[in-house]
Amino acid sequence: MPDLSEEKRMPTPCPECGSHRVRLSEVHNPTDKVFCSSCNTLRGEYSDLEKELLEKPRSEAEELLEAAANSKKRSE
Ligand SMILES: [Zn+2]
Repeated sequence: MPDLSEEKRMPTPCPECGSHRVRLSEVHNPTDKVFCSSCNTLRGEYSDLEKELLEKPRSEAEELLEAAANSKKRSE
């Protein structure tokens, strides 16, 4: 049977060992279980991981936009 797993880096560390690396199936089913690649702790389902990956960068970008907007307002 071929190995259909891949590794990804999560924005948040594993609660057990602090590793950011997770192992998941290449199939990417929303209900696939995602495990820490270092200690095999269950990190959640793929849909949760995908949400986290999408939300983290966006919230950082929004903070930067907000900071830029605030400094612009102050200088006017
Ligand atoms: Zn771990």
